[in-house]
Amino acid sequence: MGLTVAIVGSGPGGFYSAAALIKEIPDCRVDIIDRLPTPFGLIRAGVAPDHQSSKKIAKIFERTAQAPQVRFLGNVEVPRDVSIAELRGLYDAVVLATGAPKDRRLGIPGEDLVGVYGSSEFVGWYNAHPDFKELAPDLSTGTAVVIGAGNVALDVARLLAKTGEEVRATDMAHYAADAIDVAPLADIHVFARRGPLQAAFTHKEVKEFGELDNAVTLVDPAVLPGEDVALEDKGRGSQEKNIGYLREYARNKGDEKPVRIHLQFYAMPVAVLGEGKVSAIRMERTRLTEDGKVVATGETFEVPCNIVVACIGTQSMPLDNVAYDERNQRFQNQDGKIEDGLYVAGWAKRGPSGTIATNFPDGSQVAEYAKALVPDAFKQGPAGLDQLLADREVRVVTFEDWKRIEAAEEAGASHGAPRRKFTTIPDMLGSLG
Ligand SMILES: Cc1cc2nc3c(=O)[nH]c(=O)nc-3n(C[C@H](O)[C@H](O)[C@H](O)COP(=O)(O)OP(=O)(O)OC[C@H]3O[C@@H](n4cnc5c(N)ncnc54)[C@H](O)[C@@H]3O)c2cc1C
Repeated sequence: MGLTVAIVGSGPGGFYSAAALIKEIPDCRVDIIDRLPTPFGLIRAGVAPDHQSSKKIAKIFERTAQAPQVRFLGNVEVPRDVSIAELRGLYDAVVLATGAPKDRRLGIPGEDLVGVYGSSEFVGWYNAHPDFKELAPDLSTGTAVVIGAGNVALDVARLLAKTGEEVRATDMAHYAADAIDVAPLADIHVFARRGPLQAAFTHKEVKEFGELDNAVTLVDPAVLPGEDVALEDKGRGSQEKNIGYLREYARNKGDEKPVRIHLQFYAMPVAVLGEGKVSAIRMERTRLTEDGKVVATGETFEVPCNIVVACIGTQSMPLDNVAYDERNQRFQNQDGKIEDGLYVAGWAKRGPSGTIATNFPDGSQVAEYAKALVPDAFKQGPAGLDQLLADREVRVVTFEDWKRIEAAEEAGASHGAPRRKFTTIPDMLGSLG
């Protein structure tokens, strides 16, 4: 009997693992389980809707899903529908690829006020993740604040600034596109604790801030390095390009377009202010020490706003008694191995960093571990899980079902959009009849 593997999570970590497993062990059988009826994790629910080309990798994952050794079982949540212990009883190996979906907290007073969102929530909202459909951020204000200096912060700021026309041909959740289109936002502040040279965002994303129909991007020229400052070697090309674009934005005037995006550096949030809901954020100016540490200067200022989106990273979540490393906020593992027969891949293993492709080597590593299990493989895998889920009356969404959901989403699209996403699980299942 061939090796049987259950992968929990159908994002890049899960799919790269499945692809490596069937390549290295052609007679294995792989079941990819996801709590949502839709596959591909953050490719669907994280990657910005106006960056459709970054989602094309899903077509390659689709080929893996349709390989004869592989099954997708959507709408199956661990441990709600099946526990890790049960999966381990049924499969020779179990791989956790559950991502890092929990927002890190700012750790400042007032962050529980209504109107303060983490990036997973806010990005999930505009990407139609069923968990966040009801978020209903109050966009009736003139000012939004985004905290963070990575590409996710730029995604949020850019999408808040885009017009309905600019997102028409995307798959942004229709309710979010409508809400943002009519929002009277005039100022969007993006705050980074460090300087422009330390920012994690990449030049392609910075460049887009010069191409917005309705928004002009502003940078204080005083924070930019002089032409004579040597850029650090690491990422030098990208940094140079970043600084080039930021210099352009520093020459902009604020009155050129109705919306102003303020890319601000050397400032960190110290308190969110308001009664029940956000009315302002208090920021403190920072400076960098010679060894690159951020220190507060004691100089504070307030920005009135009704919405704060904290894009300061996420963490994985403990799952069903699997050993969890609280300090590093991910599953305890040694190079992807939690213990014999239990492995971890993607952001659940490494934490939330890198691109889709960064998860690729995790899959190869899982396959290496799995190869060692082949001689002793004996567990029944798929048949046992099917029986268990049938006994529990779980409505499993197969890959063929997903293709029907996808076809319904595509049929509902208009104005050149790739799809009109369903926003609830009942609607997705309803489309299957
Ligand atoms: C906002 C944002 C934008 C990004 N944009 C880009 C980009 O443009 N280009 C790029 O290359 N990278 C981008 N990335 C990074 C990329 O999305 C990640 O590297 C990648 O998705 C991580 O893959 P993963 O499989 O570890 O996690 P995920 O993609 O999060 O997949 C985890 C999967 O596990 C499932 N799951 C979780 N818990 C359970 C459970 N208990 N039971 C069953 N299933 C479960 C989830 O439903 C999900 O499908 C972006 C990330 C974010 C957050």
